[in-house]
Amino acid sequence: MSKKGFTTTNLHSDRRGNPEHGVLHKPVHPSVAYGYADARELAEVFQGKRAGYNYGRQLNPTVTALQERVTKMEDGIASAAFATGMAAIGSTFFSLLRAGDHIVSSAFLFGNTNSLLLTLQQFGVAVSFVDATDAANVAAALQDNTRLVFVETIANPVTQIADLQAIGELCEQHDLLFCVDNTMTSPYLFRPRVVKASLVVNALTKYIGGHGNALGGCVTDTGCYDWTKYPNLYENYKTGSPSLWGITQIRKKGLRDIGASLGPEAAHHLAVGSETLALRMERSCSNALQLARFCANHPGVKNVYYPGLPSHPQHERAKTLFSHFGALFSIDLDDRLDCFDFLNRLDCVISSSNLGDVRTLAIPVAHTIYYEMGAERRASMGIADSMIRFSVGIEDIADLVEDFEQALADQPG
Ligand SMILES: *Cc1c(COP(=O)(O)O)cnc(C)c1O
Repeated sequence: MSKKGFTTTNLHSDRRGNPEHGVLHKPVHPSVAYGYADARELAEVFQGKRAGYNYGRQLNPTVTALQERVTKMEDGIASAAFATGMAAIGSTFFSLLRAGDHIVSSAFLFGNTNSLLLTLQQFGVAVSFVDATDAANVAAALQDNTRLVFVETIANPVTQIADLQAIGELCEQHDLLFCVDNTMTSPYLFRPRVVKASLVVNALTKYIGGHGNALGGCVTDTGCYDWTKYPNLYENYKTGSPSLWGITQIRKKGLRDIGASLGPEAAHHLAVGSETLALRMERSCSNALQLARFCANHPGVKNVYYPGLPSHPQHERAKTLFSHFGALFSIDLDDRLDCFDFLNRLDCVISSSNLGDVRTLAIPVAHTIYYEMGAERRASMGIADSMIRFSVGIEDIADLVEDFEQALADQPG
C-alpha cells in the first residue's frame, strides 16, 4: 500500500490497530492495572519478553495509540508521551544526562525550558546558551563532554529561527544528540527529521491538540541517531534494536522514575484534536500572515516579528524549511499606544497566556511571561515593554482585521 498523506494517515491510525468492536477512536482506557490469567505471562511482560501492559504510569492503551499518531506525524520510529510538554523535555534531559555532562542550548527559549536548564545546572549539568540562529555559535560552544544540542524551530516571542540544517550536520559530525522542540511549527509545517534531528519534542497542548482543552507532551525518536555512540545508556536497556535504546531509556527512566504520565482522557482529547491539525494550521498561518502584513503597514505598530515578512532576518530559511511561516507573531506598539488599553479594545482577541488554540490569543510579554526575569534581561533579549505576542486562531480573517483596525485606531482625547 502506498504511503498516504498527512491527514489521511492520522485519521485512520487508530482503526488500523484493530481496536475492539471496530471503533474508529481508540477508547479511553481508565484502568491503571492489568490482570493476567497466567501469572507466567505477567512475569514475561515485566521481563520484556512479551508485549503487554503492567501499570498505568508506564503504559496505557489510549496513550499508546496517541504515541503512534505522533510518530507517524513526525515520520519517526517511536514516541513517548508525557503529562505536559515540560514533562517531555524534563524527562528526556533527566533520563539521558548525568552530572559532569554539558549541553548547548539556544538562548532563545520557551521561558519554562530556560528555567528547567537553570535547574539542571544545580545538578551538575553545564549549559551553554548561544545564539542558535548561526551554527557557528553552536560549534564554538562544543566541549569534550557535550552530549546534546537543544533548539526550538521558531522561538517565541521574537520568532528567531535556529540554523537547523547546519546544526544537524554539526551534531552528526560529532555524534551529538540533536534535540529539536517542534512545538511552534508542528509536524505539519516541519519535520525535524529532515535536518537530522535525533529527538523531536512536541508540546501536544499547543497546535497538535489545538483547542486548549488538554495538556500533553511527546518526544519522538526520528531514527537518525546511532545510539551505540551514546555513553549514558544503562546496560539493561541495550536490548533489541539499537535504534530503540534511547526511547526505551526515556520511557523507563522518564515515566518510571519521574512519573509525569499522560492520562487517557487527555490523550483522547489530544488525539481527536490532532485530526484537524493540517486544516487548522493552514487557516491559522494564513490569518497570521495577513495580520502581520496589516500590522507592518500600520502607523500604530513600530515593529513586527514574523518569519513570513521579507524583513525577517531568517525569512529565506523559513521559506526553505517550513511549509508555512507559523501562526504566531509579535509586535511592538507605537509609543502613543498603551498596550493594556489596546488589548482591552480588542474584541475577538482574548488576553490569555496559551498559544496554539483555535481562538486568537494575545499577551503583553514584558508584563507577564517575561516579567520575572527583570528589565535588564528583557532588554538584552530585545523585549520591549510594549511588545504583544499573538497566537493566531482560525477566526474569519475579515473579523480579525477589523478588530485590529478599531483597536489600533487613534483614540479620541
Ligand atoms: C508550551 C511550550 C512547551 C511546554 O508545554 P506544556 O504542555 O505547557 O508543558 C514547550 N515548548 C514550547 C516551545 C512551548 O510553546
